[in-house]
Amino acid sequence: MRLILLGPPGAGKGTQAQRLVSKHRIVHLSTGDMLRAAVAAGTPVGLRAKSIMEAGQLVPDEVVVQIIADRIAQPDARNGFVLDGFPRTVPQAEALDRLLAERGLRLDGVIQLKVDEGILIKRIEKRVAQMLASGEKIRSDDNPEVLRGRLEAYRAQTAPLAGYYDGKGMLKSVDGMAPIDEVTTAIDRLLGGGKPARRKAAGKRAKAKPAARRRPKARKSARKPAPKARKNRAGQAKSRKGRRLTKAR
Ligand code: ADP
Repeated sequence: MRLILLGPPGAGKGTQAQRLVSKHRIVHLSTGDMLRAAVAAGTPVGLRAKSIMEAGQLVPDEVVVQIIADRIAQPDARNGFVLDGFPRTVPQAEALDRLLAERGLRLDGVIQLKVDEGILIKRIEKRVAQMLASGEKIRSDDNPEVLRGRLEAYRAQTAPLAGYYDGKGMLKSVDGMAPIDEVTTAIDRLLGGGKPARRKAAGKRAKAKPAARRRPKARKSARKPAPKARKNRAGQAKSRKGRRLTKAR
């Protein structure tokens, strides 16, 4: 299963990604997490990304595309992945299309978490307050000013991706403002996991039908051989007769 989660900062992509990971045994690829790890480790990519991230702007496309290209080539990504925070621009989406095509892979879907931006800011403020209260370190870009910049970058550069994937018939949307479990259920349904109720029923029906059909068919075919046999016997008789006639001649 290869998925993209699309949505503005604070939409709940990380939370839903974690649930998809355990459900589908895929890996969670968050470019934000990878970049933060690179910054913390002081790698050349990290050094390049640090100030850009702190300003709430986007790291250059070629940097994140390379990170993703390397990551999806790892053995643990073979079973699939959920991309969170990537692609974030149309050129990144195009690069991803090429990366997947080169490997003969396809995306299973793009899930958009639709949220109200006014409420988002409150959500992130709540998240920050909770983290501070529990003594956790907060992200350096999790302050109201930078958050506004992140939302601005989202509107200008990432929101157009909805149209990009919709045009390919791949976009599926869920209400990201619903409670977490409801969002998870909605995503499951979109991926066919919620359909099982319907699918199962359909499956049962589908299974029941052929069985029901098979039985009469079996009876029919049990009945059929008789006329066939008669025909055959008649045919055989004819040919025996024919043989006798031939012999007689
Ligand atoms: P958010 O909660 O804002 O979605 P992320 O953890 O996904 O945060 O990303 C944090 C920062 O990392 C972004 O503001 C941006 O600077 C950088 N970043 C992450 N993913 C990408 C990407 N695909 N392209 C460019 N920059 C990215």
